[in-house]
Amino acid sequence: MAKLEKVLIANRGEIALRILRACKELDIGTVAVHSTADAELMHVRLADEAVCIGPPSSTESYLNVPAIISAAEVTNASAIHPGYGFLAENADFADQVEKSGFVFVGPSADTIRLMGDKVSAIEAMKKAGVPTVPGSDGGLTDDSERTLQIARDIGYPVIIKAAAGGGGRGMRVVHNEAALLNSVQVTQTEAASFFGSGVVYIEKFLQKPRHVEVQVLADGQGNAIHLGDRDCSLQRRHQKVLEEAPAPGIPDDVRNAVAQSCVDACIDIGYRGAGTFEFLYEDGGFYFIEMNTRVQVEHPVSEMVTGVDIVKEQLRIASGLPLSLSQKDITISGHSFECRINAEDPRTFYPSPGKIKFFHAPGGPGIRVDSHLYDEYTVPPFYDSLIAKIISYGESREVALKRMELALDELIIEGIRTNTALHRDLVRDLAFKAGGVSIHYLEGKLEEH
Ligand code: ADP
Repeated sequence: MAKLEKVLIANRGEIALRILRACKELDIGTVAVHSTADAELMHVRLADEAVCIGPPSSTESYLNVPAIISAAEVTNASAIHPGYGFLAENADFADQVEKSGFVFVGPSADTIRLMGDKVSAIEAMKKAGVPTVPGSDGGLTDDSERTLQIARDIGYPVIIKAAAGGGGRGMRVVHNEAALLNSVQVTQTEAASFFGSGVVYIEKFLQKPRHVEVQVLADGQGNAIHLGDRDCSLQRRHQKVLEEAPAPGIPDDVRNAVAQSCVDACIDIGYRGAGTFEFLYEDGGFYFIEMNTRVQVEHPVSEMVTGVDIVKEQLRIASGLPLSLSQKDITISGHSFECRINAEDPRTFYPSPGKIKFFHAPGGPGIRVDSHLYDEYTVPPFYDSLIAKIISYGESREVALKRMELALDELIIEGIRTNTALHRDLVRDLAFKAGGVSIHYLEGKLEEH
């Protein structure tokens, strides 16, 4: 297949700009689609063509499949890049895109479906040799004796999770047998109404895990590689706040074994595109929790330590080319951090949209800023509050962290409230500086204040 001629970017904000830049570098034409609230977005200004696809509400614009497909038709685009969020992991959308004659920049609809159901995802992973959390081996049945026995065998505490769950919803921790059956029932009912499927399963609840994930690239032609791992343990309400690559303090043999198991799984399931295997890491063991079949917000930290441009690779793979790199071409060198700057109140965490009066991006050696902000830009209230990603690189963790400290001090965003102060505090936090804090660390720290 020839190079993609023109890519429609079905997203907004910083990731739309990131994709636009990758397309331009590859001399691929670009189509921006936007809601009426987003006509002033930076990537809309920079794209070759722009199409308004609906009113501000995401359901009527960025989630409006017919409007996006029509925009691809009228602009004669060859492919659609979904970015992250919105329709990126919607198998029906991927199906529609391909059926309408466009290339979907991502895996096949079947793969998205397989990974979108956590029960089938875990099954596929087990088969491929990826380590999973001890659990119920599939969805629970009506047999309550069986459910009780499964939880007894796993040992309390356990977590009940919806097979179709996402975004940190549809999960319930159970500490003892007395509470089990009722919790299963409540989670089933919730799951049925939130996600349209009441299937739930049980896993061992890990008490102080870290969130460590592995970045992969696969071409669907039998080739797959990994780009090492990332630690995204600093989270608030299951939302990642600050990430780094590589994950600190993990023995190389353990790290390499889990990454290799992800590569094997990609080949096993015929994976195509960029993807992320998410794990909980506790007491030296990795436990798979889910796979994301798209580019992630935190992909830049892996790019910084490998020198691989993940979005360009996505576009190459989507054009039908085999991977240009093999595992031996990949070396993890140095260290990288990413701070997610959100338009939100630093104390209440409520969104803080509004007009940016002044924006000054940091710079200097090892600093990268992925942001769609500019002076006088108005952050609309309708979407995710991520407005900038400050990324640092250094030959060591210490250097990368020091550079981040300086970059955050240089960053100026006036006119709206942001979480910059939280990041300034975090990069100076002694436990974080030492490396390897658990997924509960940030919330614990916030409670102290
Ligand atoms: P979602 O798709 O909703 O993001 P995940 O399966 O990725 O759901 O889990 C989200 C978060 O819930 C994890 O990052 C972790 O904080 C917590 N979690 C999930 N499974 C477990 C588990 N078995 N033990 C402890 N915490 C868990």
